[in-house]
Amino acid sequence: MTRKIYDAIVIGGGIVGAACAAECALEGLNVAIVEAGIIGGGATAAGMGHLVVMDDSEAQFALTRYSQQLWNEMSDALPREVEHDACGTIWIAADEEEMAEARRKEQFYSERGVLVEVLDAHSLYEAEPNLRSGLIGGLRVPGDSVIYPPCAAQFFVDQARTKGAELFLGVRVESITEDGVRLHDGTSLSAGVIVNSAGSWSAALTRGLEVKKRKGHLVITDRYPGFVRHQLVELGYLKSAHSLTADSVAFNIQPRGTGQLLIGSSRQYNVDDSSVDTSILSRMLARAIKYLPGLGKLSSLRAWTGFRAATPDKLPLIGPHADHKRLYLATGHEGLGITTSLGTAKLLLAQIMNRETAIPVAPYLPARVTQHA
Ligand SMILES: Cc1cc2nc3c(=O)[nH]c(=O)nc-3n(C[C@H](O)[C@H](O)[C@H](O)COP(=O)(O)OP(=O)(O)OC[C@H]3O[C@@H](n4cnc5c(N)ncnc54)[C@H](O)[C@@H]3O)c2cc1C
Repeated sequence: MTRKIYDAIVIGGGIVGAACAAECALEGLNVAIVEAGIIGGGATAAGMGHLVVMDDSEAQFALTRYSQQLWNEMSDALPREVEHDACGTIWIAADEEEMAEARRKEQFYSERGVLVEVLDAHSLYEAEPNLRSGLIGGLRVPGDSVIYPPCAAQFFVDQARTKGAELFLGVRVESITEDGVRLHDGTSLSAGVIVNSAGSWSAALTRGLEVKKRKGHLVITDRYPGFVRHQLVELGYLKSAHSLTADSVAFNIQPRGTGQLLIGSSRQYNVDDSSVDTSILSRMLARAIKYLPGLGKLSSLRAWTGFRAATPDKLPLIGPHADHKRLYLATGHEGLGITTSLGTAKLLLAQIMNRETAIPVAPYLPARVTQHA
């Protein structure tokens, strides 16, 4: 049997793999995409779809900001089912400590050209009348937006296929070989470049990869148009989301185009079981009701879980593997892979083609964690 040879094999049809495949195919590379399940069925289906500029570090800011600009440039070309909605974010301050954080964020973003607006209590309630009383203000980031991620992944795969990419759907990559991949059905594919973008499964395919699963829960309600108008996130989130060990919940809610409300979120390490954990779910909903008391009267339709792919330094791995000359990584995007998928795809292609990158790539290079593996 003749062995199929590609320029690039992309493992995983989540939003990151799909964006990378589209970027490579649009460049003219001969691409194969191998997806074990369905397109966008992993973390991409579980995620919230908040396209958000973040500032935990300069590197995180650079990649989220760059990616958001790419999303905005693409907005008109996105099909309707991607539901790109420029609702903006409001970071909510419950006390003076959190208000100080809102002001610090304001300065950080403003200095780097991101439009932000500090809200006092009056303007916070004007923007979001269903919030509980007693909050003291917040920070609005009008440039943030939301999408429906699985349809975005499908759109990127369709784009790649229009440019000739071949899709192997429902077929698992069993192993990465020296010159390609071996599939579960025994088929071997060869390529000049192999991209491991298998999200929280990526470590199973590449030895020594420090990518761990971080479980999250979400709930979706029935339709209540206008109940909230922005993606709302408590500033207390910054304290809880950073814990690398303890389970945490934080108030985070998103208005969907359908009028539904998507309620998050939780973070748990060292849990492999994907079932809904009612105790963490109750904590998460209690937290949300603390901020939006009216939520308690609304009906929810479904709760689910997903796994973020977490690296030790909370930055993704984008670029060549330190030891395998054909292997590139595009994984470890934790809670920001929907946002950063587009920036990842651009940075990956630039490295494959030996070109300058639009933002410095050093902080995301896999060598920082794989060279000592
Ligand atoms: C609760 C929750 C909320 C989130 N909210 C947000 C948010 O608001 N904004 C944001 O930017 N990010 C968010 N994220 C993060 C985001 O969802 C992920 O970072 C992103 O979806 C990762 O995409 P991916 O393509 O790397 O992984 P995945 O979507 O998991 O895709 C990996 C794919 O690889 C396939 N695969 C695995 N192993 C193999 C194999 N051996 N062979 C072939 N295929 C394989 C899987 O089937 C899967 O489809 C959230 C995540 C969670 C869990």
